[in-house]
Amino acid sequence: MSNIADNIEHLERQLPEGVKLVAVSKYHPVEVVQEAYDAGQRIFGENKVQELVAKAPQLPNDIQWHMIGHLQTNKVRMLMPHVAMIQSIDSIKLLRTVEKEAARIDRTVDVLLQLHVAREETKSGFAVGELLAALAVNELDNCPHVRVRGLMAMATNTDDQQQIEKEFQLVADTFRLIKEEFYPDDAAFDQISMGMSDDWQLAVKHGATLVRVGSAIFGPRQY
Ligand SMILES: *Cc1c(COP(=O)(O)O)cnc(C)c1O
Repeated sequence: MSNIADNIEHLERQLPEGVKLVAVSKYHPVEVVQEAYDAGQRIFGENKVQELVAKAPQLPNDIQWHMIGHLQTNKVRMLMPHVAMIQSIDSIKLLRTVEKEAARIDRTVDVLLQLHVAREETKSGFAVGELLAALAVNELDNCPHVRVRGLMAMATNTDDQQQIEKEFQLVADTFRLIKEEFYPDDAAFDQISMGMSDDWQLAVKHGATLVRVGSAIFGPRQY
């Protein structure tokens, strides 16, 4: 068995039922993605539109591609035919563009709203208060081609475990609040995407349903 297959099996063994693995294949060639696919992996994450769009047609079409990186509105059109879920909705303007482009090709697309909970200002996403305010004034309404499935977040890149746990807990609390307030009868609002190679265990402890793992599956990236 290949290393990649081993790594996936090892992760799957530790993930509780109901938590799905997103294999983050950015910077890794299609041959490597195929290896993971052959090991049974079906959900893959990419952080650049160009790369996702280049890889998708070369690989089996039952792969679910998740866009996990910052998305510019002018790239939504080329992404739309290939993507199963856009995890990185970080503005109302982007959500509106996704709605428009999904409608244009007559499809519905799953999305997550990205929350900014990390210390780094460079990371994108809605501030908690900003997202609650937008929801309260119905800014996310009238998007029939978009299915809001939940929240996505990245923790601060730090060794301080308590800090990371605090951030994951904030995401979980915000998810619960939004669910109760705005999606009480919507069974599809059920996903929390958080946790990467170094912190997915902590994310699972705080309620993640999707973990995004790259280097722990594929090894270091070649930039
Ligand atoms: C690269 C990336 C990951 C995976 O990172 P690893 O540390 O390699 O597991 C997860 N989420 C996002 C948004 C990423 O860009």
